Amino acid sequence: MPRQLFVTTALPYANGNFHIGHIMEYIQADIWVRHQRMLGNAVDFVCADDTHGAPIMIAAEKAGVTPQRFVADIAAGRKPYLDGFHIGFDNWHSTDGPENHELARQIYRDLRDNKDGSLIESRTIAQFFDPDKGMFLPDRFIKGECPKCHAKDQYGDNCENCGAVYAPTDLIKPYSALSGAQPELRNSVHFFFKLSDPRCVEFLQRWTQDGKLQPEVANKIKEWFTVRSNPDGSTSEGLGDWDISRDAPYFGIEIPDAPGKYFYVWLDAPIGYLASLKNLLDKRGQDYENYMANPGLEQYHFIGKDIVTFHTLFWPATLHFSGRKTPDNVFVHGFLTVNNGEKMSKSRGTGLDPLKYLSLGMNPEWLRYYLAAKLSARNEDIDFNADDFMARVNSDLIGKYINIASRAAGFITKRFEGRLGEVTEDGAALLHLLRGEVGTIEQLYEAREYAKALRETMQLADKVNAYVDANKPWDLAKKPGQEARLQDVCTVCIKAFRILTCYLKPVLPALATQVETFLNIEPLNYANIVQPLKAGHVIGSYQHLMQRVDIKQLEALFEAPEPVAAPEAALPGGEAIAPTIGIDDFAKIDLRIAKIVDCQAVAGSTKLLQLTLDVGETDDAGQPRLRNVFSGIASSYEPAQLVGKLTVMVANLAPRKMKFGVSEGMVLAASHTDEKAQPGIYVLEPFAGAQPGMRVH
Ligand SMILES: [Zn+2]
Repeated sequence: MPRQLFVTTALPYANGNFHIGHIMEYIQADIWVRHQRMLGNAVDFVCADDTHGAPIMIAAEKAGVTPQRFVADIAAGRKPYLDGFHIGFDNWHSTDGPENHELARQIYRDLRDNKDGSLIESRTIAQFFDPDKGMFLPDRFIKGECPKCHAKDQYGDNCENCGAVYAPTDLIKPYSALSGAQPELRNSVHFFFKLSDPRCVEFLQRWTQDGKLQPEVANKIKEWFTVRSNPDGSTSEGLGDWDISRDAPYFGIEIPDAPGKYFYVWLDAPIGYLASLKNLLDKRGQDYENYMANPGLEQYHFIGKDIVTFHTLFWPATLHFSGRKTPDNVFVHGFLTVNNGEKMSKSRGTGLDPLKYLSLGMNPEWLRYYLAAKLSARNEDIDFNADDFMARVNSDLIGKYINIASRAAGFITKRFEGRLGEVTEDGAALLHLLRGEVGTIEQLYEAREYAKALRETMQLADKVNAYVDANKPWDLAKKPGQEARLQDVCTVCIKAFRILTCYLKPVLPALATQVETFLNIEPLNYANIVQPLKAGHVIGSYQHLMQRVDIKQLEALFEAPEPVAAPEAALPGGEAIAPTIGIDDFAKIDLRIAKIVDCQAVAGSTKLLQLTLDVGETDDAGQPRLRNVFSGIASSYEPAQLVGKLTVMVANLAPRKMKFGVSEGMVLAASHTDEKAQPGIYVLEPFAGAQPGMRVH
């Protein structure tokens, strides 16, 4: 019976492009999915952008676009990476899609209304609030002095200088990283998932310790049931409850029956796995509830070690207590370092840019092969090393495997019209040995022991090469009367190459397709390789299958990018257009035509001119009221040039006390941000006909 599998990778946060760490995880999962399909199993392999939360809301605001537009732009950039590395997701969706809104709200209701007692509890907590921004601040957006070592500008959750962990309220002189304002402590009602409920504890202890998880992962989790670190550095017994709500403004999913309250992004992100699946099934016209109700359905998540808590505690508990199926397993991998360098975490940059790799014409399957040759079932870090990469691709992949075909196929096509011959006696033994390994290879892929599967395959390739060296087809080709022997030896090589290609197919899908075409055979799988190709089978002419890695490509890959000048076209006037505002915002600014009645240099300032402006105002006695304005335009104008001219001023700007007196407004003037690149400041002057006091709309 074929199995039915639902497989995901972790959802990438939609605040940036993929780095090599994402690509590694996707390749790891993609190999496993392809392996399952070669076994004849049905697999749905999905992912989505993780779109919610404060960091995206704030990044979108900075970019001057809506969060929806911001994440859509990120999503639009995903395809070149996925196609480029042959990562075959069946669906790519978004946690902001309607399926996720609906599922998250339903799952929450099911948790709240659990028939054995609600698992949701509301509590009032005190939190820092930014009075300028009008929002509660996430821990990472509060900064201040570390209470332990007194380092300045430390985040609200821990100190990067001394490593201390604390609550934002422990910071000395806290300030908002968004506005610089001093935050106020305000009370707010938050919703908690009661992980400390005995039902949850009992369930999670069983779920995490029943042997399915990787041993090193299960052992680590064990600690969470006994000892828990508190934000202030102290520890408590057992699991803590989980705060699943955030206050508006928040880019996320509104909590049912709680206006202005949103799900914390980590509540709805994993639900995005189900939402992406539902979206895929909808497109196919399949029923989601039916699909999930299949008792044989297996569900697997590939994740990095940094998000184990969310996937082995919160996620199974969320599913179980809302009456849903829990994952069959969660496969945890370590981080990828590059040339023993920096860690590829979400927030760091990359040492190996995946798109640059592709743009240099480097073969994506080199990377798939190299990463697979390092990956095991264990949660451990691996390193991309440029020298090792070149050695493994050139000596193993090309030297041992590709060369088998290139040494034999030419003789078959040139001398025998592509026709395969018989199998030699020693060749039959060799092919028998190769086929006999299919069970081992299958099991190694199943257990995600890719490095071992490739090592095993390369050992088989060594045996084939030993056969080639012993039979020397190039010598046979020169000896008269050895035609039949030559055809048979080359036939053994081609048949061996076919079996090895099958064993490498989960890792090298594009190459396998090329080989299938060249050998003129059905798509390879573990079942059909036991049926040998018959004598007389005609293969196509050999096309070069794979290039060697050129050291120049690796040098170019790791070359630091040339510093590029800021693109002028993208930044008009030297800066991006400010965030969009509504007409109401604009109407708050009262712009008036002003006559420059007088203009004087300011003693002690090289920048300022002192303007006396008439905007048509009168005082209580009916006398003309003039305004005093200081303006930083002395570099471009002599006072006499301006007297008598009309300009535009901001008439309702709060008066500002300056060193030289009070400034009662601001004159409009244009300049480039980079004064050195484009010097000059230009005062605005209206067309003829405008009169002092007229409003500018
Ligand atoms: Zn500190």
